[in-house]
Amino acid sequence: MNDLTAREKLKPAGGSPPPDQPLYATRQKVYPKAVAGPVRRAKWAVLIVCLALYYLVPWIRWDRGPGAPDQAVLVDITHGRLYFFFFEIWPQEVYFLTGLLILGAIALFAATSLFGRVWCGFACPQTVWTDLFMWVERVIQGDRNERMRLDKAPWTAEKWRKKILTHAAWLAIAMATGGAWIMYFNDAPTVLREFFTGQAGMGVYFFFWLFTGTTYLLAGWAREQVCTYMCPWPRFQAAMLDENSLVVSYRAWRGEPRGKLKGEGHGDCVDCMACVNVCPTGIDIRDGQQLECIGCGLCIDACDDIMKRLDRPIGLIAFETLKNIASSEAATRSIPPCAARTQAGMQVRHVPKFIRARTLVYAGVLTAVMGVMLGAWLLRQEVTLAVLRDRAPLYVRLADGGVRNAYTLKIANKTREAGQLTLAFESAAPLTLAIQEAPEAGENRFTVNTRADGLTEWRGLATLPAGARVQESTPVTFRLLDARGRTVARTSSVFLAPHHEEHRR
Ligand code: SF4
Ligand code: SF4
Repeated sequence: MNDLTAREKLKPAGGSPPPDQPLYATRQKVYPKAVAGPVRRAKWAVLIVCLALYYLVPWIRWDRGPGAPDQAVLVDITHGRLYFFFFEIWPQEVYFLTGLLILGAIALFAATSLFGRVWCGFACPQTVWTDLFMWVERVIQGDRNERMRLDKAPWTAEKWRKKILTHAAWLAIAMATGGAWIMYFNDAPTVLREFFTGQAGMGVYFFFWLFTGTTYLLAGWAREQVCTYMCPWPRFQAAMLDENSLVVSYRAWRGEPRGKLKGEGHGDCVDCMACVNVCPTGIDIRDGQQLECIGCGLCIDACDDIMKRLDRPIGLIAFETLKNIASSEAATRSIPPCAARTQAGMQVRHVPKFIRARTLVYAGVLTAVMGVMLGAWLLRQEVTLAVLRDRAPLYVRLADGGVRNAYTLKIANKTREAGQLTLAFESAAPLTLAIQEAPEAGENRFTVNTRADGLTEWRGLATLPAGARVQESTPVTFRLLDARGRTVARTSSVFLAPHHEEHRR
């Protein structure tokens, strides 16, 4: 027990740490070694695509006509709009965002169920920026051994130079990241100019420094600590995994017993530690599935390289299902370490089962949510009418014995053109509607002008004449009609009268 590292003592698989052990362990700095191979290349590709998208998307222009922002992706908080190319979402349509979040979550569950922590290892912003920061560090300070030597060395001018250069580069990236973030909420060229001329608002500077600071701290300093201790996802992603999920696995049935020398009953693992040295979280995949493993697959490249040099089959560490690991283990238990054992273990493998109950459920939910969102988008009205009845007071008794209800009518015109519509008020009761500043166009009908891409608000007063028969709550309908008399929007409300009104009749 005394030989355990602090990380091992806190390993969640072992349950709560014993009472005599601290809950907090001092971070042991990880010095990941550079590695080359197909997984690393895939990671570079994902990193470049993700970063390019993040930094460049605010600069893409999209013509929406005069008076509308020409930024393709923009969250316009001031005017309450979210623009995404040809989509324009109003505050009332926030359910589209909810739908997108649900889609993202289900897609993440499905990807985890199929390919393990592929999101964590390849596309999570924490992974992407940490990878970028590590690359910068490696370029300036050298690879693993040089960095370890540098950290142990006394503070010479050269060490200061390398450290300052590294942190300056990290800060520059962090500032570019914070700078790009504010461009998603403001017109990019405008906010850039205002930022450097000191004319931008306080919020712009605040969020710039907030994102600069968090990027610098999380990617430069916290790194794997974020994945291990701060992020909740590793805690419950295990619920999405099953024996058919592809996860980064060490084929212990083939590698053990490990040993530096071939022969003498040793498996294929030569205990070179290459897989451990490249690991960005500093763990040993040979210890089995661990919460700290982000599934980046870099240990696969490292081990394959060693296997190639030793002229042995690659794949000692691989994306593999736990089911196949178990089958291979069972099939090779009685075979001593030799080439035949590797062959026997690989022969009993099955093609991973991608279509299974769990993935079908995810696919079904994903399709259903996408269908609902598509339907909602296709049925989306360009003109909407919202009616809010005054609640305080619920009604007003007039001096002549009549009863009055007041309504606030909000007409949202999502088109780029101002328009003129007819507002019609309908009820089974003998109610009369009056709207200030809207010319009458017939009985309980009014001409209302709408603003292009804007909201217009009207106050309506519905009156029940004295002595009229009415229920306590009477349904009423408001409709908006276009020039041809077609209904473009419709909403219902009620007219409330005093409780005793009915009984007096
Ligand atoms: S064990 Fe392998 S897959 Fe897991 S984090 Fe380390 S290098 Fe990446
Ligand atoms: S890289 Fe491969 S051979 Fe080297 S220690 Fe890791 S598993 Fe064993």
